[in-house]
Amino acid sequence: MSEISRYTLYLVFFCFIFCSILPQNAASQNFTHPLGTVSKPTTQALESLWEIAPKQEKTSQDLEKFAANKVIPETLKNEILEALSYYPELENTHIDFLFYKNIKGSVMQAQPKIKTMWFRNKSKRSYKVKISRHLHLVHRDMKVEEVPHDVLVGWIGHELGHIMDYRDRSNLAMACFGVNYVCSKRFLRKAERNADKYAISHGLSDYIIETKHFILDHAKFPKAYKEKIRELYMSPEDVIASVEEVEEQEDE
Ligand SMILES: [Zn+2]
Repeated sequence: MSEISRYTLYLVFFCFIFCSILPQNAASQNFTHPLGTVSKPTTQALESLWEIAPKQEKTSQDLEKFAANKVIPETLKNEILEALSYYPELENTHIDFLFYKNIKGSVMQAQPKIKTMWFRNKSKRSYKVKISRHLHLVHRDMKVEEVPHDVLVGWIGHELGHIMDYRDRSNLAMACFGVNYVCSKRFLRKAERNADKYAISHGLSDYIIETKHFILDHAKFPKAYKEKIRELYMSPEDVIASVEEVEEQEDE
């Protein structure tokens, strides 16, 4: 077998593993956030940040432009468009948001679409965000649309953070990323924190915190799931520290 064929086979194999497993997400609490209104900051620290950089009011019309190049289910349209509005760089990136009956151990996963990984130009790569139709609680399943608005925006914002992280990687680097993500807990933890950091630096910190609280403070989530979130993802305190770091960098 020639070197090129062997290399191609390896790439197919890695891509397959990568696209069948990849990321899940973190996230919790009960704020209603009608489109375009300002949500309440979760902590005192965020409250002061809030005063510095209040969210801009966004109407449905404002948000509609972020639907370009996306496949979005009607059920979560508001939440997805709101999360996308924090990532204007993704305007030309093709992303399909798709409902799945079940995702192994996760609520959402962002992945590259395997058939677009053959393009030489990584800017032509497309992605999908898999969204579980239900959250599995201890005694019942909760429909994903029952999750509070801000929590969903944070959750989706985290997945878009993954896509930001993927965008600059070559196809081979993506394949290696997938293998490391599966094989190394340390790598997985770093990848999850990176996704949160992208979301924070794009102004989604208070949503991310609400998503964390929703999971960690929600009595009905299985213990094992909460443990996983505690172990692998940024805590609400880590998020606040990271926001302060971003603020300091901006001041310099
Ligand atoms: Zn994630």
